[in-house]
Amino acid sequence: MHNPPSLLAGQTGLIMGVANEHSLAHAIATTAHAAGAKLILTFPNASIEKRLRPIAESLGATVFPADVSSDAQLKTLANELGHHLGDTKLDFVVHAVAFAPKEDLQGPLSLCSREGFATTLDVSCYSFIALLQHLAPHLARSASIVTLTYLGSTRVIPNYHLMGVAKAALEAAVRYLAAEVGPLGQRVNAISAGPINTLAARGIKDFPAMLKQHEQTAPLRRLTSPGDVAKAALYLLSDLSAGVTGEVHMVDTGANILGPSGNAS
Ligand code: NAP
Repeated sequence: MHNPPSLLAGQTGLIMGVANEHSLAHAIATTAHAAGAKLILTFPNASIEKRLRPIAESLGATVFPADVSSDAQLKTLANELGHHLGDTKLDFVVHAVAFAPKEDLQGPLSLCSREGFATTLDVSCYSFIALLQHLAPHLARSASIVTLTYLGSTRVIPNYHLMGVAKAALEAAVRYLAAEVGPLGQRVNAISAGPINTLAARGIKDFPAMLKQHEQTAPLRRLTSPGDVAKAALYLLSDLSAGVTGEVHMVDTGANILGPSGNAS
């Protein structure tokens, strides 16, 4: 990837969801760092912390613990951020976190449990709202907040089931939150990425078949790369998108425009 211009020079951002080098949040963090941003990364548990520490070190980033399903941990994060940031505010926040219990994710939706539904919506949608709530005192006036979603929110995608419902709720939350914080000058957007081989994606049944179909039928005839997502994130996090809020920006090598026949040729 070419070096991005210093679009985020002098900016400070919080990025959640770096599990390893394949994570979409990792690509976003690497690109944001190259664009001049100072980063804060979070980890939900000790095993991710072990993988995150060397990544954070290579990016000169600070790390804090934060399991987004815990208000207590989000409150502690906000307190620790307060001490760490001093008078500095967060110019951007990236929420790249989702989870569904495997037995509920693998569907069908009609058989998902009440508990599995609640956990999935909690971690994959409510956490975005909770994050904004807890981070509010630390957000810059023009802060840009970005989350990650998928086309299964608005279309029935084989094997996406319960996560499609969670992403639909997340996208609605993006619009309502954008309307709420817009008067402050803050922006809220989502990137809807095509299928990419990450740890979370491997929880989806027959994911390799989904990748193959995407590669064969998407207008650009290739998979979406983490770099594609990161470059779109750079646009949404930076002043280049100053007039954009409440959007779900498709970054999927064009797959979302296709009708039921798959492609035009
Ligand atoms: P990933 O590398 O597995 O990242 C997901 C991250 O969420 C992991 O670090 C995971 O930690 C973390 N997480 C789960 N529960 C958490 C909690 N309670 N508190 C804090 N963190 C928690 O997968 P990814 O594909 O990059 O996913 C990032 C985002 O992109 C997700 O919202 C996903 O739905 C979205 N997305 C992905 C694709 C794709 O095809 N990959 C496409 C469109 C959208 P653990 O590993 O410990 O669970």
